[in-house]
Amino acid sequence: MTQVKQLAAVSAFLQRDHGHFINGLSQPGGGALRPVIDPATGNEVARVHDGCAEDVSAAMAAAQQAFLGSWAEMPTLARGNLMLKLADAMEQHREELAQIETLCSGKTIALSRGLEVDQAVAFLRYFAGWAGKIYGETTEISLPSSNGEKYRGFTQREPLGVVVGIIPWNFSIMIAIWKMAAALVCGCTVVLKPSEFTPLTMLRVAQLAADVGFPPGTINVLNGNGGLLGPLLIEHPFCAKVTFTGSVPTGRAVGNAASALAKPATLELGGKNAALFLADMSVSEMVDGIMEAGYVNQGQICASAERFYLPAEKMDEVLSALIQRLSQLKVASPFEEDCQVGPLANKAHLEKILKMVARAKEDGDEILYGGYSPDRPGYYFVPTVVKVHSEDSTLMREETFGPVGSFLAYDDEEKVLRQINNSPFGLAASVWTHNFNKAIRYSERIQAGIVWINMHTFLDPALPFGGIKSSGNGREFGSAFINDYTRLKSVMMRY
Ligand code: NDP
Repeated sequence: MTQVKQLAAVSAFLQRDHGHFINGLSQPGGGALRPVIDPATGNEVARVHDGCAEDVSAAMAAAQQAFLGSWAEMPTLARGNLMLKLADAMEQHREELAQIETLCSGKTIALSRGLEVDQAVAFLRYFAGWAGKIYGETTEISLPSSNGEKYRGFTQREPLGVVVGIIPWNFSIMIAIWKMAAALVCGCTVVLKPSEFTPLTMLRVAQLAADVGFPPGTINVLNGNGGLLGPLLIEHPFCAKVTFTGSVPTGRAVGNAASALAKPATLELGGKNAALFLADMSVSEMVDGIMEAGYVNQGQICASAERFYLPAEKMDEVLSALIQRLSQLKVASPFEEDCQVGPLANKAHLEKILKMVARAKEDGDEILYGGYSPDRPGYYFVPTVVKVHSEDSTLMREETFGPVGSFLAYDDEEKVLRQINNSPFGLAASVWTHNFNKAIRYSERIQAGIVWINMHTFLDPALPFGGIKSSGNGREFGSAFINDYTRLKSVMMRY
């Protein structure tokens, strides 16, 4: 076992008086102090001042001033270059950011480095590459010409203005960077509201951004209670758009608040993602696929699979091999280099999952493995395997957002496709088979924003991501994000 040594820079950062990052400066603010809890121990590691209405006004005013001034005046390619410099700075501070992330979220240090920070950097560079490539169109105009006059029209993409980004606790850097980078490269400025469980990492990233030369006001971070600050931010006259990732109920509240004021909202909500394994896969291939789809980061990934459909004839063999694999995972401090199962991200989340497991037992589902919190400090929960009795089980319909795989046997592929689509959600799904003909055909029929074939949960900046049905609207990444962060201006001329 190798325990990671906390960097001096991290210790020093934790001891600071934390609050917000507004107008290029770290600002403690005057609100009540909220403890930041290390979910691996339950101990307080830092304190952060809650934001209030005055802080909202200050952040929104700073973002609006930068939107109309320094950020608007900066040549597009210079904006992209700054984003690249921030990516370099994040890379240089990789270990520091990863350690702060692990302290706040309980993510294993390996995932904090390799997924949280490295992927955030990759996405930041991808979005920076769009600088100078956001085009309009020229069009022919068919108005009549009585004296030989001609017409021409063109469209241009204009930035929306100040974007409010509301961030969940599961990927406090990466998801914030998705939203921030998309907004910045389109010429918008941002006010980010991290989860109250993970308020620190984006404060550090915002400071790095200021250090590499981002003008004051372009990137603002406001901490505090989402129920209080969210509506204030969305209703603020300078808020031109909101982009949110998180739970379905909060996402609906955010969407309603935005649409009441006719403001656009990108909503990336959860789901009850399905993984379908066809009978031609071997038992070990299925177990590998299930581990990838359902148990990475303790299942706390919005795209993770939670509904698993296995061929009836292989179900028992697969589940016993899966349980064998799960029982060998190393449960440890997330600061141990070889930790494979760290804690859940916070106490409220652990309590929610424990309640859902109790409900599953009442439903008559069979908890084959796990389903409890081990006897150790922190918010640990043993990865869980549940054999559900029917597609109506609560666990087949409601998101746990945790390492709780619900398994249903099938013997009819047509029926299982109907079961997969019989869900109010549609964020992600996967099909696992060597039969590519079937894989492609089934991917066309499954109702989800993304369908993976023989893989699950991987995101790439070039491929749009977002949900359908109750899993949200709008698309992040690819070129699709441009529609969500710009508006179309039409210009017509006579000559
Ligand atoms: P929420 O969806 O409630 O929170 C996500 C973000 O929204 C946080 O920054 C939160 O702030 C903010 N927020 C809360 N209320 C409002 C509001 N009225 N208006 C605007 N913003 C608001 O997730 P929770 O952290 O409360 O977790 C609850 C459950 O949601 C989890 O148990 C999990 O199942 C699911 N979840 C799903 C995620 C996904 O990616 N699909 C991500 C995270 C959670 P604050 O933290 O201050 O409340």
